[in-house]
Amino acid sequence: MTNRTFTMIKPDAVEAGNTGAIIKLIEEAGFQIVALKKTQLTPAQAGKFYAVHSARPFYNDLCAYMSSGAIVPMILEKDNAVADFRTLIGATNPAQAAEGTIRKLFAKSIEANAIHGSDSDENAAIEGSFFFAQTEQF
Ligand code: ADP
Ligand code: MG
Repeated sequence: MTNRTFTMIKPDAVEAGNTGAIIKLIEEAGFQIVALKKTQLTPAQAGKFYAVHSARPFYNDLCAYMSSGAIVPMILEKDNAVADFRTLIGATNPAQAAEGTIRKLFAKSIEANAIHGSDSDENAAIEGSFFFAQTEQF
């Protein structure tokens, strides 16, 4: 049951020079990189990506933060990709993230938490196609 998830290394982790270290952990955990690039969201694009959170009090701050610097979006492949990747990154709040998880190792705060991970197969497909055309996927 090989399937896919979507991730982005967020501006805090790219700015801190942790892109390579994070990708190393992702590959060591058995994920294959299907698509990868470095880009920056406009505030409007960040608003669209996080539209599901538009009613939350942190939405405006989140969109400003996510468009504040470069990000590294990726599509990843592995058996049980969505759930295994959520385990690898850890809890949203790094203070609650398990030892050894990417957020525990690299996140600065609940907002600047180093990395995104899709929460379902359906959202993984939607989020992946937000950033990548079929022709960009291996
Ligand atoms: P996750 O990224 O773990 O799936 P959510 O989907 O709930 O978490 O939230 C999306 C993103 O919004 C989080 O990764 C984080 O960057 C930000 N965020 C979530 N909760 C808060 C909060 N209470 N305060 C500030 N930012 C938050
Ligand atoms: Mg989420």
